Amino acid sequence: MHLLLVEDDERLARALTRLLEEDRHIVEHAPDGRTGLELASALDGLDVVILDLGLPDMSGLDVARRLRTDGIDVAILMLTARDTVSDRVTGLDAGADDYVVKPFAYAEVAARLRALGRRAEPGPRRSEPRLSAGAITLDEASRRVTVHGRNVDLSPREFSLLEALLRHAGQALSRDQLLDHAWPFSVAVTPNAVDAYVHYLRTKLGEAGAQIETVRGIGYRLSDG
Ligand code: CA
Repeated sequence: MHLLLVEDDERLARALTRLLEEDRHIVEHAPDGRTGLELASALDGLDVVILDLGLPDMSGLDVARRLRTDGIDVAILMLTARDTVSDRVTGLDAGADDYVVKPFAYAEVAARLRALGRRAEPGPRRSEPRLSAGAITLDEASRRVTVHGRNVDLSPREFSLLEALLRHAGQALSRDQLLDHAWPFSVAVTPNAVDAYVHYLRTKLGEAGAQIETVRGIGYRLSDG
């Protein structure tokens, strides 16, 4: 997808851009609202604007409203530091299609982008928001995980971790790669956190937990069962 990231936090913008580009998106970056608006109207074929709510020159809400009044019909994914119902409603009223609450992990942004992409796809052959390997199935849209059809209750971090493993099933992922995908940006964690969460995840998945294999000296790999 062709993306425009409007975000003034340089470190977050750099980290997010790197991961999005690794997922083969084309990413343009604007450090403030005015530049964001200019780029959004100048760029052809933009799929999604990832829009920070707190920008130095104007609010992300104003940027979203301006895009809509200017008739720019691009999907908007809002990045917000607040998570109250009224903020969400205001964001959606201003023209945003979806939102992610800070601090967020890359996996959450990636999932929202895929959902926005599916919405834009015409016709009945939409891609499935469902990932599975062996006995494990993860539904991105409903955020439900099942093992042999039985519901498993996961924390958001466990969910993102499992999602990263499922998305790369059969591949060894390093602890750093798992941190990149499943942990919030700018939160200080050590790779040991990955080991702890893999342990929780294996326990909650029951017998299917054995599908998460330890790859010595590297990290973890999810097998097909
Ligand atoms: Ca900001």
